[in-house]
Amino acid sequence: MMAVRRRIASTPTRSEHSEPDAADAVLDPHRLERYSRHILLPEIDVAGQQRLSRASIFIVGAGGLGSPAAMYLASSGVGHLIINDDDAVDLGNLQRQILHGTADIGRLKVESARDRLRALNPEVRVTALDKRLDGKELEREARGAQVVLDCSDNFPTRYALNAACVRARVPLVWGAAIRMQGQITTFDHRRTDSPCLACFYPDQPEADGGGCAASGVLAPAAGIVGCMMAAEALKLVVGFGDTLCGRVLLLDIAAMQPRHVRLTRDPACPVCGPQAGTCGSSAVSGNRL
Ligand SMILES: [Zn+2]
Repeated sequence: MMAVRRRIASTPTRSEHSEPDAADAVLDPHRLERYSRHILLPEIDVAGQQRLSRASIFIVGAGGLGSPAAMYLASSGVGHLIINDDDAVDLGNLQRQILHGTADIGRLKVESARDRLRALNPEVRVTALDKRLDGKELEREARGAQVVLDCSDNFPTRYALNAACVRARVPLVWGAAIRMQGQITTFDHRRTDSPCLACFYPDQPEADGGGCAASGVLAPAAGIVGCMMAAEALKLVVGFGDTLCGRVLLLDIAAMQPRHVRLTRDPACPVCGPQAGTCGSSAVSGNRL
C-alpha cells in the first residue's frame, strides 16, 4: 500500500489531468486500498479508476455471461451497473450463473444479482430492470451508458440490442458460450468503421435452437467469455489497449485454442449500412468516455 501512496503522491502529471475527482481519490484511503491493484497499473492509475467510478454500464442478461461480467465490473469499481433480466433463478442455472446461489432459487435474477453485487462492492450503484425491454427502451438505456454488454441468450434480444446500440452510437460488447466454445467481439459504434451484429449475422435465425439449455455448456466457458467481456468494457471506459472491434475471438475451450476472425463492416448492412453516411462525427462521439 505504501508504494501505491508514494507513487500517486509523486506523479507529476496528476494535476494536469482534467479529472476533478482524482485528488479526492488520492485522499481516500479506503478507495485507495480497494482499487490499489488497478491504480498500480499505468494504463489505469488514479485517473482511470475515476473514470470507472463515473461510468455506467448496461448489462443485458444476468445469466452465465452476465454473472462474471457484472461481478468483475462491480469489483473493479464501475460506478453504476444497470442489470436487465426478466427471468427467475432456477436450479439448472446454478452450474454457471455464479451471481445466484441455492437460496436464490425462485427469486428474480436481477434481485439476486443486485444483492450479490452490493455485497461484493457497496460503492457500486446497481439498477435492476426486471422486464424484457423493447427497442426504444433498450436504446434509452444504451444512451445512458458508456458501454453495453450483450449477455443475453436469445436472438430477438441480441438483434434489438444491436440496433439500439447502433442508433445510440454506444459500444456493444458481445459474447456467447455454448458447449465448449466461446465467441466474443466488440462493436464500437462510436467508430465509423465498426461492424455491427447484423454485419456478422445478417439474418436473424428464426429459432435459437434452445441455446445451452438444449446443447449444454461447460461452466467455465461461460465464465471465460464473461470475464473477457468485462475486460473489453474496462478498456472502453478507461481507454487503454486494443479492443476486439473488427475481430471475433473464437475460443475452443476443449483444445484451449483461440482463433481470431476478421470482421468488416458490411456497407449493405440493413442495420448500420444505411446510416454510414451520417456517422462521420466519430471524433465527437469518440470523446464520449
Ligand atoms: Zn451492420
